[in-house]
Amino acid sequence: MSSAATTPRTYEVRTYGCQMNVHDSERLTGLLEEAGYAAAPAGEQADVVVFNTCAVRENADNRLYGNLGHLAPVKARHPGMQIAVGGCLAQKDRDTITTKAPWVDVVFGTHNIGSLPVLLERARVQEEAQVEILESLEVFPSTLPTRRESAYAAWVSVSVGCNNTCTFCIVPSLRGKEQDRRPGDILAEVRALVAEGVSEVTLLGQNVNAYGVEFGDRQAFSQLLRACGEVEGLERVRFTSPHPAEFTDDVIEAMAETPNVMPSLHMPLQSGSDKVLRDMRRSYRQAKYLGIIERVRAAMPDAAITTDIIVGFPGETEEDFEATLDVVRAARFAGAYTFQYSKRPGTPAAVLDDQVPRAVVQERYERLVEVVDAIAWEENKGLVGRQVELLVAEGEGRKDAATHRLSGRAPDNRLVHFTPAGASVDPADIRPGDVVTVEVTYAAPHHLVADGPLLAHRRTRSGDAWEARRSAPTPAGVTLGMPTVGVPAPLPDAPACG
Ligand code: SF4
Repeated sequence: MSSAATTPRTYEVRTYGCQMNVHDSERLTGLLEEAGYAAAPAGEQADVVVFNTCAVRENADNRLYGNLGHLAPVKARHPGMQIAVGGCLAQKDRDTITTKAPWVDVVFGTHNIGSLPVLLERARVQEEAQVEILESLEVFPSTLPTRRESAYAAWVSVSVGCNNTCTFCIVPSLRGKEQDRRPGDILAEVRALVAEGVSEVTLLGQNVNAYGVEFGDRQAFSQLLRACGEVEGLERVRFTSPHPAEFTDDVIEAMAETPNVMPSLHMPLQSGSDKVLRDMRRSYRQAKYLGIIERVRAAMPDAAITTDIIVGFPGETEEDFEATLDVVRAARFAGAYTFQYSKRPGTPAAVLDDQVPRAVVQERYERLVEVVDAIAWEENKGLVGRQVELLVAEGEGRKDAATHRLSGRAPDNRLVHFTPAGASVDPADIRPGDVVTVEVTYAAPHHLVADGPLLAHRRTRSGDAWEARRSAPTPAGVTLGMPTVGVPAPLPDAPACG
């Protein structure tokens, strides 16, 4: 890379979509930094703007071209500026992007994020747009350099791609068949992260519990959870998202028997109607889903279970929708990402005739949210008076400055806002990554509050790592933010499938 050593070129990465994209953006950031780029200071125009796109939402392409349109005059005023577009939409639209937005310099696919620095350099030297889309993965994303956003929590990919064919989902055609990392590589990355101060790891895959399908080991995922339990210093292990069809009892046993695997489960339901599940080409049925929940609750009575639900899938009748409400009531979810079905171009469901009218979808959606929120609130109220250990979070309490609170995640991943005051605790000592013990005093549908005296504060290696990072300047302009899995506070465009 030939960037001048004195004035490194600056970058900004704009991320859309699911956790997989957020994770890919961490890789992109790491690659750019390794190639000599520096994060653009806040408020300053970056020399390189990278869009990591998502093709899941309707109108994603309009949004992208709108954003690219805004950048065209900016680029004209900044000689040497480059624009790169990657991610699922780039994989899907390929050459159309440089036709519609000829001021784009680089288009790269989901399988070749590792080529970005080379493509940028080539585009600069050749003064010509570079489009490189690979059909399959050459380097597993986790083996690329990363710049993690959080000092105390990290994503670790166990697999990419998906062998399922859910009819509403674009992932299989864009991310390809499932490819699994070797367990030794995953554990080496986990250990390296822990050595850097990380205490919480989220194992990530589009269909995370199918892990092992590529090398023919049905129990590989539960074994991986148990192996994470052996990693000294790793306090919390989570995973997202499992698919109900592949959810086997050995995973439940591993969760229950491995102390650092947290009692939280995000398991997409999508619909409670067997007919709709069949039309979605999801191979489990209502009874199987509820059976898993029952066994999870028997093994981990305190587990918080969250889900994803799509309302208004083509052909969904009132009776089908009622079946979804029945499952919500029976499963007693701690939270749900709820989506109104919208056509996603390129998916089999987009061409089905019996699309449900918009007004009906809206009305069902509102009823669903009402039931989901009421149950989540009741479940949360049951926790008032309970003592919980929180991993102190950074940037998760939007009103913390005004309320003089801090925020943290309970073991079950519930978000708790707490007042950092107690007889033997100096609030100024509490750092993101530390662990505090609080008593829950109030419940809202989407969070808990602990306004009593702080019961304990434990300084951790993660807190030390956070402090060390703070003294080194944090790059601005990377629009990533803390991973927020589990209890759905801010809604992403789409969660990591499953
Ligand atoms: S929804 Fe999840 S399981 Fe289904 S095809 Fe998409 S990625 Fe695979």
